[in-house]
Amino acid sequence: MSKPRPLIAGNWKMNGRRADGLALAEGIVGGAGGLKAELLLCPPATLLALVGEALKGSSVALGGQDCHEAPSGAHTGDIGAPMLADLGCRYVIVGHSERRAEHGESDALVKAKARAALAAGLIPIVCLGESEAERDRGEALTVVARQLAGSLPDGAAGSTVVVAYEPIWAIGTGRTPSNADIEAVHGHLRAELAKRFADAASFRLLYGGSVKPSNCPEILGLANVDGALVGGASLKAEDFLAIARACS
Ligand code: PEP
Repeated sequence: MSKPRPLIAGNWKMNGRRADGLALAEGIVGGAGGLKAELLLCPPATLLALVGEALKGSSVALGGQDCHEAPSGAHTGDIGAPMLADLGCRYVIVGHSERRAEHGESDALVKAKARAALAAGLIPIVCLGESEAERDRGEALTVVARQLAGSLPDGAAGSTVVVAYEPIWAIGTGRTPSNADIEAVHGHLRAELAKRFADAASFRLLYGGSVKPSNCPEILGLANVDGALVGGASLKAEDFLAIARACS
């Protein structure tokens, strides 16, 4: 079976005011033509409407950085998946390690959020990854398999869910696992998916953690890597586009 179309997703995190968010989105749209990879921008909630306008008529998709597990209701400060869909989002990140750490999100909650995203017609990008201590103890494969089992809803399919492997110790640090270690985790995730889903080969498995133009050609060339979730380097249009071009 041929590899799925790669996805290059930019997670802007809690960065950007209207002027620079708009300039960044316009810069990316300007260079997005003719790419093999699908591009996705996940700005902070405050910029979703503005960036959504800038992406109109382009091939670049819009996504949220999180959603609540309920569609609506008394949840001050939260955003429901149907509200993201209403703004034109196609994707939403769930279970990012910063949310797991800073907001105490469990696998069960991440699964509920992924289910809410699916119910709203969004594609959840389910994030998982081991800590440095877990890797040092030789537990990386066990940890990611447990997170995958606990965070991925049964109704998942390759066309409706994306999985992102993001070792916590590689996020924003400039450090990355070796290519062999990335491939070992991604191969393991694929094998775990195959135990539950007939279309395991069609799931996009993104790598995230200090991806930049200089290291992405090798990482994106690995057999079970189908794209990247990019933090810091997604805040510069040229870097983000260079990463996307490495998929050709
Ligand atoms: C992320 O937070 O999803 C991420 C991968 O960040 P960075 O690229 O900055 O390591």
